[in-house]
Amino acid sequence: MRQCATPSRPGGPPEPDGGDCAVRPGPTSLHPAKRHAIGPGQQMTRYSAFSLLTKALGGHAGWGRAWRDPAPKPAYDVIIIGGGGHGLASAYYLAKVHGITNVAVLEKGPIGLGNTGRNTTIVRSNYLLPENNHFYEWSLKLWEGLEQDLNFNVMMSQRGVLNLFHSDAQRNAAARRGNSMRLIGVDAELLDREQVRAMAPMLDFDNARFPVMGGLLQRRGGTARHDAVAWGFARAADALGVDVIQHCEVTGIRREGDRVTGVETTRGPIAAAKIGMAVAGNTSRVAAMAGLNLPIESHVLQAFVTEGLKPLVDTVITFGAGHFYISQSDKGGLVFGGDLDGYNSYAQRGTLQMVEHVFAAGVAMMPCLSRLRVLRQWGGVMDMTMDGSPLICRTPLAGLYLNGGWCYGGFKATPGSGWCFAHTIANDAPHRLNATMTIERFRDGRLMDERGVGAWPWAQ
Ligand SMILES: Cc1cc2nc3c(=O)[nH]c(=O)nc-3n(C[C@H](O)[C@H](O)[C@H](O)COP(=O)(O)OP(=O)(O)OC[C@H]3O[C@@H](n4cnc5c(N)ncnc54)[C@H](O)[C@@H]3O)c2cc1C
Repeated sequence: MRQCATPSRPGGPPEPDGGDCAVRPGPTSLHPAKRHAIGPGQQMTRYSAFSLLTKALGGHAGWGRAWRDPAPKPAYDVIIIGGGGHGLASAYYLAKVHGITNVAVLEKGPIGLGNTGRNTTIVRSNYLLPENNHFYEWSLKLWEGLEQDLNFNVMMSQRGVLNLFHSDAQRNAAARRGNSMRLIGVDAELLDREQVRAMAPMLDFDNARFPVMGGLLQRRGGTARHDAVAWGFARAADALGVDVIQHCEVTGIRREGDRVTGVETTRGPIAAAKIGMAVAGNTSRVAAMAGLNLPIESHVLQAFVTEGLKPLVDTVITFGAGHFYISQSDKGGLVFGGDLDGYNSYAQRGTLQMVEHVFAAGVAMMPCLSRLRVLRQWGGVMDMTMDGSPLICRTPLAGLYLNGGWCYGGFKATPGSGWCFAHTIANDAPHRLNATMTIERFRDGRLMDERGVGAWPWAQ
C-alpha cells in the first residue's frame, strides 16, 4: 500500500476537499463577527501550566466555574436538544465558525452522562466507503487539534488502532480497506503476524480456531477521555455565549404546519426557528414528538473495566473473529466492549448474558484476561441505523435538523459531527462531507453500508 504524506492539522487551509491526500482541516479560528464580542464566559481562566502553578500557590481556591448555569431564555436563534458530545460540539462550532451565539443546548440531566460518558473512547478513521472515510478523517484531524482549540485537556492519545485478521479472506478485506484509506491520504499499514506479535505479544497467535494472521493498523487512531470531551466543548461554547442548560428535558416540539417554532420543556416553553436533535439513543422518541418516524432502532451496548494493571496493552486492539475491542486506561484498567444486546431497549445497564458473550471473545483473543477481576460493567443506548452509517441532515420539517444514527461509532465522530451539523443548521444545507448522510438515502436505496450486508442494525 502506498502512503500519502502526513495529513495536516486544524489551523491549515480552510476547506475539506476530496482527492488525493487533500482532506484539509476547516476554519477553527473565531468567526470574524465574534472576535470582539465574546459572550459571558470571556472572563474564563485560560488553562495553562502557568495558571496551574499560580492556582496551586493559592491552594487551588481560585478556580472559577468551567461554564455558567443559566436559566433558559424565552427564545433563541437555535436550540440543540441533547448535551452529549455531539450537541455541545454543534453549539460550539455554530458560535465559533458561523458566529451564531444565541444558542441553547438543552440537556435533560447533567451533560455528558449519555453515551458520551459511557463509551470505550476509541477514536479512528479507518473506513472503507469514501463518504465515511472523508468524514471520519476530517473528524480525526479536528481531534488532533482539539485540545489547543478548546484549551482543555481531552487526553487525546494517538496510540494506534489495530484490527486483527484471522483468515485469508479477512486479510483481503483489510487490505482493501487500507488501500481505500490510503487513496485519500489516511494512514494505514497492513501488518503480518510477526509485526503484530512485536506490538502485542500477549495475544493468542496459535489459537486453533482463530490464529492471528496479521492486522490493519492506523497509528493516528487511539483514545480520548470521553467526559472531558463534553466538558471541554461545554466550557468553550459557554465562553462564546452559548447557554448550556442542564436538567431541562424537552417534552414536546412545537409546530406551525410543516415548520417548527420551538420546544416544550420541563422548565417551560422555549421558542426557536431552528432546532437540532442530537439525542443518540433517544432519537426515535424525540423525533416522534415532531411526528417523524425514523429508520433507527435503539439497542443497548455494554462495556467493562478491570482492576488496574501495569502497562499491558499500549494500543487499541480489535478481534477479527468476534466482536471485541480493548484498550488500557491511564489508570491501568483494561477497558473493553463487544456486541449489542441483540434486542431493542432503552435500559442503560449491563446484563449477565453479555458478560459471558463478551468475555468468551476476549479470552479467545487474549487468554491472560481470564485472570483479571472486572470492576464495573455498564450500558448505553445506541441509535442504530439500518446501514450502520449516521444521519446529519435536514428533516421534512422546516427548521428541524437531525444528528443521529451513530451506532457503535459516534464518539470518534464528535468534533466532525458537530462541525458538519453546525454547517447544516447555519446554512440550511449540508456540507459536502455530510451530503449523503440523509434520511432520504433509505428511501432512494443509496445505503452507506460498510459491510455490504443489507438492512440490519449493524455497526462499523
Ligand atoms: C458501551 C459503549 C461503547 C462505545 N464505544 C465507542 C467507541 O469506542 N468509539 C466510538 O466512536 N463510539 C463508541 N460508542 C458510541 C458513542 O458513545 C456514541 O455514538 C456517542 O457518544 C453519541 O454521542 P451523542 O452526543 O450523540 O449522544 P449522548 O452522549 O448520548 O448525548 C445525548 C444526550 O441527549 C440527552 N437527551 C435525550 N433525550 C433528551 C430530551 N428529551 N431532552 C433533553 N435531552 C435529552 C441525553 O440525556 C444525552 O445526554 C460507544 C457507546 C457505548 C454505549
